[in-house]
Amino acid sequence: MSKKPTNEEHCSFCGRPASQAGMLLAGLNGYICHDCSEQAGKIFKEQGQTSQNSKFTIQNSDIPVPTDIKAFLDQYVIGQDAAKRVLSVAVYNHYKRLKYNAEHGDKNDVEIEKSNIILVGETGTGKTLLARTIARLLKVPFCIADATTLTEAGYVGDDVENVLVRLLQAADYDVAACQRGIVFIDEIDKIARKSENTSITRDVSGEGVQQALLKLLEGALVSVPPEGGRKHPEQKLITIDTRNILFICGGAFDGIERAIASRLNSNVIGFKGDETRAELDRDNMLQYVQPMDIKKFGLIPELVGRFPVLTALQPLDSDALRRILVEPKNALVKQYQELFKMDDITLEFAPETLDLVVERAVKYHLGARGLRSIMESIMTDLMFDLPSLAKGSTYTLTPDIAREKMKL
Ligand code: ADP
Repeated sequence: MSKKPTNEEHCSFCGRPASQAGMLLAGLNGYICHDCSEQAGKIFKEQGQTSQNSKFTIQNSDIPVPTDIKAFLDQYVIGQDAAKRVLSVAVYNHYKRLKYNAEHGDKNDVEIEKSNIILVGETGTGKTLLARTIARLLKVPFCIADATTLTEAGYVGDDVENVLVRLLQAADYDVAACQRGIVFIDEIDKIARKSENTSITRDVSGEGVQQALLKLLEGALVSVPPEGGRKHPEQKLITIDTRNILFICGGAFDGIERAIASRLNSNVIGFKGDETRAELDRDNMLQYVQPMDIKKFGLIPELVGRFPVLTALQPLDSDALRRILVEPKNALVKQYQELFKMDDITLEFAPETLDLVVERAVKYHLGARGLRSIMESIMTDLMFDLPSLAKGSTYTLTPDIAREKMKL
């Protein structure tokens, strides 16, 4: 295609000669320079014209079935079976819905509704990890936003619409792909209404944000500035249709157990009737969470209504923490072993050492989040000393050494 330009050859779009524009690509009746071809690519993307070769083009064979999705999640996330199953089905249905809408256009008889999801679970139980792991598998753009940084438009903080800018960036500015993407909003519980009463001061980071989010969730056309930040007059805006974007939210909802417990205790005509009340697993009330509990916590009913799927993550017990240390594909123990292998050292952990780490993590109540910092406190000295001392050897980390490093 490319031709060595002669003096007469100009870019047919900007008119610059090859001496200024650089290499020109020749077509049947003209030439195009690098700058103009890039500009053209951008315009196509902005108009939602996805190339058939885009990394976000979905073929039928790309759609993983729920059991495949769950098997993939199992490689990275320990336990949380209920949440994994719910997520797998939701993501699968998301793909199917996209396919259905693409095939039927506006003439579809049945409108398949979106199944936005709320994941409820203590901190460090794997909500974000689940979302991130799903993202690895997907052929749709994915982004994570933190609800605590969001404010209503016009106030200090991130406009809610900037969530879409992030998704657009994840889609390499391919608008059509962005419109099929998945957004994970973390810490959704932090934008709960502060009280049931309407306050005289505006609640710009709570209910206001919820209202703004609602607009995105309701499937609206939203205009966003392509580079993010505040909108201002005369700025070029990109319009994004949010109808097909899947939203997954995560939150710890601290204290919601009390609301769940009081509902279950007072509500005799529960789901399964009276007799099951005696069998309630009082240590893990989160598993009985219902939309009404979330509403009571302070999410506005309209927003709760937009999240038909609600599921809870289990608190991690010491068995789960122990497995998290060694089993996932990128388990902490495996990571340290790889690091030492690069120094030609074989690192081994005595089983009692791992028990000790788990014991500490349980004591700190930080879920799996605590494992990393405990391991780091043990490993720092070793990572400092070993590379120069023990090349070519095997080093076993005993509980005594670990205890000393943790300064127990
Ligand atoms: P949160 O529920 O607060 O979003 P994260 O998903 O961010 O928690 O978890 C923090 C870290 O703890 C993760 O990076 C991961 O290493 C580890 N982790 C948490 N839960 C699990 C789990 N179920 N399986 C494996 N690792 C986990």
